[in-house]
Amino acid sequence: MVVVMKAGASPEQTEHVVELVKEMGLRENVIVGEERTVVAVVGDDRFKDRGRLQAAPGVDKVVKILAPYKQASREARTERSVVAAGTSASFGGKQIGVIAGPCSVESRDGFLKVAEAVKDAGAVGLRGGAFKPRTSPYAFQGLGEEGLQIMAEAREKTGLMICTEVMAVEQVDLVQQYADVLQVGARNMQNYNLLAALGKATKPVLLKRGLAATLDEFLLAAEYIIDGGNPNVILCERGIRTFEDYVRNTLPLAIVPELHRVSHLPVVVDPSHGTGKSYLVEAMAKAAVAAGADGLIIEVHPDPEHAMTDGAQSLDHEQFKQMMASVKRIAQAVDREA
Ligand code: PEP
Ligand code: MN
Repeated sequence: MVVVMKAGASPEQTEHVVELVKEMGLRENVIVGEERTVVAVVGDDRFKDRGRLQAAPGVDKVVKILAPYKQASREARTERSVVAAGTSASFGGKQIGVIAGPCSVESRDGFLKVAEAVKDAGAVGLRGGAFKPRTSPYAFQGLGEEGLQIMAEAREKTGLMICTEVMAVEQVDLVQQYADVLQVGARNMQNYNLLAALGKATKPVLLKRGLAATLDEFLLAAEYIIDGGNPNVILCERGIRTFEDYVRNTLPLAIVPELHRVSHLPVVVDPSHGTGKSYLVEAMAKAAVAAGADGLIIEVHPDPEHAMTDGAQSLDHEQFKQMMASVKRIAQAVDREA
């Protein structure tokens, strides 16, 4: 269940509710919203006396949660969450945040070039992998900490926030020293130790949907991070594996409005991994925005033909500029800004 405090409830009243929850043998997670505070009650509450909580001072209502994910659900929080990233980006508000950059950070010069280009075109964040999850152990695995340093330099030069993947629990401390947003890759969506560790992280998490994860599994993965203490989760649809092979992955855009219906978390779409083909990216980026996406994550490379990873799905600078112009028009049509 979830205890929704009244709009003007005092911190002491919330604290009292927390004490009652503990007395009942349950655990709590307090989510302080812009308008109201919500106390998510964690544990088997089926046979507990909800009336005690309902009667406590400052309580507006006690809501029974039906979804398996309690804290990520719309029942827990009716208003949409806005997740701030870095100093100027946010996801879930009016702005559609576009994060762009190469699949992998390959070199300082190349990354600084792409950073300037995507900034000029209107991106709010830079992407780039320093730790790469590769299918083959013989393929390029990323530059590691050197890649993070290059990204940090690009942030300094452009003012754009940086988003990069963290693959393992042992990397969380290092990656969050540099990054503004910690990306969980599709292959790690069900790495529950990593999700729990990110619950203790101080930076927002961009959680990519697993290659074969259902919507419930996706939101339960987000639940691990929120329940661990980090409410700043951005969901990212990046396509799923299907029988279809004209694309790298099938991009199921109906999940965008469906996630908005069942969850308050912002939703970003990755049409680069979602199609695997650069010539399909712009159309799917526009469709994602029309469907209500709160952001996009796009692979951009100065010379896609020679990219070390994911060149076939990367836009060059000119293509990205053109994509941004058309995404802006769609954004306006759905009363958003890009
Ligand atoms: C990436 O963003 O480069 C990446 C590896 O994505 P995914 O985890 O979605 O495959
Ligand atoms: Mn990639």
